Amino acid sequence: MRSSHPSPRRLALLGATGSIGRQVCDLVEQHPDRFTLHTLVAGSDAAALNAVARRHPEAHALLANAAGSDASHAGRAIDEAVQDPEVDLVVVAAAGSAALAPTLAALDAGKDIALATKEVLVMAGELVRERMRRHGSQIFPIDSEHSAIWQCLWGENHRAVRRLIVTGSGGPFLRRPLETLETVTIAEALAHPRWKMGPKITVDSATMMNKGLEVIEAHFLFDVPYRAIDVIVHPQSVVHSMVEFVDGSIKAQLGVPDMHLPIAIALSFPERLAGVTPAPDLVALGQLTFEALDAVRYPAVALAREAGERGGTAPAVLNAANEEAVGLFLKGQRRFDDIVPSVRAAIEASRPAEELTLEAVIAADQRARAHVRASAEGTNRVRSKLPA
Ligand code: MG
Repeated sequence: MRSSHPSPRRLALLGATGSIGRQVCDLVEQHPDRFTLHTLVAGSDAAALNAVARRHPEAHALLANAAGSDASHAGRAIDEAVQDPEVDLVVVAAAGSAALAPTLAALDAGKDIALATKEVLVMAGELVRERMRRHGSQIFPIDSEHSAIWQCLWGENHRAVRRLIVTGSGGPFLRRPLETLETVTIAEALAHPRWKMGPKITVDSATMMNKGLEVIEAHFLFDVPYRAIDVIVHPQSVVHSMVEFVDGSIKAQLGVPDMHLPIAIALSFPERLAGVTPAPDLVALGQLTFEALDAVRYPAVALAREAGERGGTAPAVLNAANEEAVGLFLKGQRRFDDIVPSVRAAIEASRPAEELTLEAVIAADQRARAHVRASAEGTNRVRSKLPA
């Protein structure tokens, strides 16, 4: 193990003002000998970006969607920033589909990526994998489950893997009576029992679509077939995921539910930073429990698996329709229990692309969003005519 670090690792951070981005900045500030920020990119919140940039005057700050400016110009500036020869690692933590184009640009320049935005792999996993192969770049997962699986696989032979076991807490509605899911409020869906995260992923945790997206993410990250990726419910969120091997061994990774830990591992790989979080106090926890996934309560997981197996643009349709349906729910324009059926309807209405290209993915994404918006308007028209 190296004990001295000749120069800090230079990071380009996409999504600098989000939940993960802020935690990346925490780690950079705590370890200035290890990391420095080369570029900070945010979506549209100029004030929040300025606040981060003031603490990191060494970094270039870029806004993807500045009011009144040309978005394609901003897109080119971001692509150039992530491809800059001075950048050692690109940290992708921008929300949803906005992260795809700059991630592909970074891979094209042979950059390694620390990836928090699972949508990149869900939308375009095949394109991402093909670029990684061509340019020899690597992806270090930040998603806690995938960080766990990645750590369990260190030093192991791919042929020795029997299955991946992705754990999920079950979210806030694990015990809620099924017939009351139609009255779930926005505040209830945003009250995650274990993790503090952004609103979109918190709703995805309540439907467990998040776990469905993570199955697709795991398939592309670790090159494991869907039939060998299982989901089990683990309400304590201490075992972040597991790998079962052909000899009957299971390796698990445990940690407190704090994203600083998987972020630190992705930033400092192959080394570990000291003292990122306290270790879980197993005696204080007393017990860790596991249960089978209830497919009736959480139909999103099977739907995502189906989309993954179908391949092509189907996962992109799943992702876009879900992003749109969650957005409508968060605006009070769709019920919680409408989210997964509207995603299913968008997948059923989609047609496979003849060739999987970035353009085909973006077109499928936009058609899926339009489908969800149109069907929401239709449903709301019908419901407004019904007696309350
Ligand atoms: Mg996760």
